[in-house]
Amino acid sequence: MSVANQAAAAPSAALPSLKTFRRIVIKAGSSLLIDREQGCVKRRWLESLAQDIADLHAQGTDVLVVSSGSIALGRTVLGLPGGGLKLEDSQAAAAVGQIALARIWAEVLADRKITAGQILVTLGDTEERHRYLNARATIGRLLDLRAVPVINENDTVATSEIRYGDNDRLAARVATMTSADLLILLSDVPGLYTAPPSENPAAELVAVVARVDAVIEAMAGGGGSALSRGGMRTKIEAAKIATAGGTHMLIADGRVAHPVSRLHALVPCTWFLTSSNPVTARKKWIAGSLEPRGALHVDAGAAKAIANGKSLLPAGVTRVEGNFTSGDCVLIRNAQAAEIGRGLVGYDASEAVLIAGRNSQDIPALLGTPGRAVIIHQDDMVLARDRITAWEAGTDGKS
Ligand code: GLU
Repeated sequence: MSVANQAAAAPSAALPSLKTFRRIVIKAGSSLLIDREQGCVKRRWLESLAQDIADLHAQGTDVLVVSSGSIALGRTVLGLPGGGLKLEDSQAAAAVGQIALARIWAEVLADRKITAGQILVTLGDTEERHRYLNARATIGRLLDLRAVPVINENDTVATSEIRYGDNDRLAARVATMTSADLLILLSDVPGLYTAPPSENPAAELVAVVARVDAVIEAMAGGGGSALSRGGMRTKIEAAKIATAGGTHMLIADGRVAHPVSRLHALVPCTWFLTSSNPVTARKKWIAGSLEPRGALHVDAGAAKAIANGKSLLPAGVTRVEGNFTSGDCVLIRNAQAAEIGRGLVGYDASEAVLIAGRNSQDIPALLGTPGRAVIIHQDDMVLARDRITAWEAGTDGKS
């Protein structure tokens, strides 16, 4: 039995329903969004996607959009030639196109009473821990306020060494970083085939991938289309990032109207399933992969609150040890100096010293800038009593 047949034989009814997801990242690529001949946005299609987003939003799901298209839009406006662009040309095109892209997203969402918030990220914002905590906090706040973050790579400043270059992997990192439980990659194909269908007419659509292994990677073939950078290969890379971080991923055909709501029915697409979830995966990473750079000593009240699953507030910190920077892993020690947990700290050591023992509402006065109310967020914390379990469970991914 071929891999495709095995996968196709998986009971479709057992696949998760869109309704079960709490936070969904939807990635739309340039070839779907941009009319190649006219060099403008395919407005009708985008309206239908915006309606799907509004429907999910109305049922309480957090929705994040990762939208490509800035370079494709900007190059038309600037009259740049077809084919590959030089780095400075694609940066200039992105600078021009991103304004139009963000405006169109804001319009189509506003028509449905949804506020859009633009976030432009570079590789460092998702890979360096202190920056990642910042990006995550901003996105988290936007979602709390029921806005829809519209995210793209900051192509105007990203050079080849420090860029993703494709929004598939970027979307996967955004999904794991924000603890999304589903990533939908809208594509110009229905999903992953056992071989590139253009080369092999006998190729079959793979319905479910339980694990990305060498066989799956071999199916991916080569690069993308003229407009978008990501081909199936970057989608498989994205699947590895997403599933390692506890996020399920779906590749689905985006070339149709209402590309997301149609997924409520059983349409052909490819699911990449994970046995983990975003919080477990992150906790495992914190528990096992990071060298602690210091410690926060806490009072009995804070120790109890933490044991009950609460975040650590500056008020409960009695002493700060070590020379850490925000985003580093630090130990949490109780009054007897025993390790009761560890986590990613939201402040540099020099700031932590100033706010230790103080009320969160005094932070702006103490630091001269508004800061976060918590010093270690509960999602970024592993309790010593859970550490072994967290280490054994989950996957290898950082999230
Ligand atoms: N960030 C690029 C843009 O907005 C797109 C990258 C991709 O095609 O995946 O044009």
